[in-house]
Amino acid sequence: MSEMLSEDERRIRDSVRRLAEERVRSRAMEIDASGEYPQDMFELLKGFGLFALPFPPEFGGSGSLFLASLAIEELCRLCYNTAYLLILQWTPFAALFAGGSDEQKKRLLPGLAAGDLRAAIALTEPQSGSDLAGIRTRARRVEGGYRLAGGKVWCTGASVADFILVAARVEGAGINLFIVEKGAEGFAVGRAEKKMGARGVPSSALHLDDVFVGENERVGAEEGGFKIVMEGLNRTRPLIAARAVGLAQGAMELAIDFVKNRRAFGASVGDFQGVRWMIADMGIEIEAARSLLYRTARAVDEGLAGTALAPLAAMAKCLASDVAMRVATQALQLFGASGISSEMPINRYFRDAKVLQIVEGTNEIQRNIIARSLLGPPGRA
Ligand SMILES: Cc1cc2nc3c(=O)[nH]c(=O)nc-3n(C[C@H](O)[C@H](O)[C@H](O)COP(=O)(O)OP(=O)(O)OC[C@H]3O[C@@H](n4cnc5c(N)ncnc54)[C@H](O)[C@@H]3O)c2cc1C
Repeated sequence: MSEMLSEDERRIRDSVRRLAEERVRSRAMEIDASGEYPQDMFELLKGFGLFALPFPPEFGGSGSLFLASLAIEELCRLCYNTAYLLILQWTPFAALFAGGSDEQKKRLLPGLAAGDLRAAIALTEPQSGSDLAGIRTRARRVEGGYRLAGGKVWCTGASVADFILVAARVEGAGINLFIVEKGAEGFAVGRAEKKMGARGVPSSALHLDDVFVGENERVGAEEGGFKIVMEGLNRTRPLIAARAVGLAQGAMELAIDFVKNRRAFGASVGDFQGVRWMIADMGIEIEAARSLLYRTARAVDEGLAGTALAPLAAMAKCLASDVAMRVATQALQLFGASGISSEMPINRYFRDAKVLQIVEGTNEIQRNIIARSLLGPPGRA
């Protein structure tokens, strides 16, 4: 689809593609197998200045979500976990950029853009994931700031983060994010989940035992100011679609390579019509998902926001991650028994694809957003 890209966009896509082929491909299996945070990949992305990509020019970036999507797509084609390192940097960026004070932006965004600081975001709790309103972590007002008490789960990147954006409810006001620094008294990163996918970046529990944060660590000009942050996070939702398109592309390429070389009944498996049509369907679905991704990312760059963006971003995320799951499932099927072996890369694609249908708002929640935009809220018939 390079005809949809400008000269500049093609140049950046091709340079990330080369980086991925030359430096990332050979590490992907190992990262998944060990389940250890890939510090070398973090340094690699940092060295190439990739963290800055979606940041505004004053932070050394291009300000373009489209370019950021291209980078994610290329990395995720070969290694989900390495692409994830960019997302982990960009989600807190989006939240701070949307809702942070000037002082917070000046203090934290340059470090995030350069890769000198790492962040994570903690919304999910044991009893509530999709239903953010159900969180129980509390921010109690005290002199000069707040005391945070509660617990989080599934906080990805927490074990290496310099600071974490923790969602907590301020009594009588609503939800805010609070900047909690590594090493704050009463704050601890707990047990990491044993995951089937996204294994390279640990997702951990957090414990907050009356952690003090100053007034200036609240994200949002007002107490209960989470809505503006949510809108900011909508802007980065296309990045999840980019991950899915890259993953699906990589899975299809593995399947093509396999069926061309595998023989059965005296012929190449890739010559059986049923198999050819499976590959054709993968190609159709991936191009459709990529087109919607590109359209959505360009719309973000052109300023689409709020309720106009939410359903489009949800459609891109839903379509692309459902396509990634279907393509990875069919691709694994084509590998026969060897697809079940954890030593085959396709096995990893299948496990990582499942994660994409769940993270950043499950696909059911995305469908609720889309349905609301088409039908209005439920219960009004
Ligand atoms: C690898 C990984 C990394 C993650 N990283 C982070 C992170 O860094 N920070 C963080 O805060 N969280 C993180 N999460 C958590 C993730 O955001 C949540 O898992 C997700 O929001 C869903 O919440 P839940 O698991 O509690 O499911 P629930 O909300 O309990 O949902 C259970 C099921 O019910 C469905 N459901 C719920 N409500 C509705 C509804 N209204 N209509 C239809 N269906 C509904 C859901 O779609 C789902 O199928 C991560 C999760 C994974 C798997």
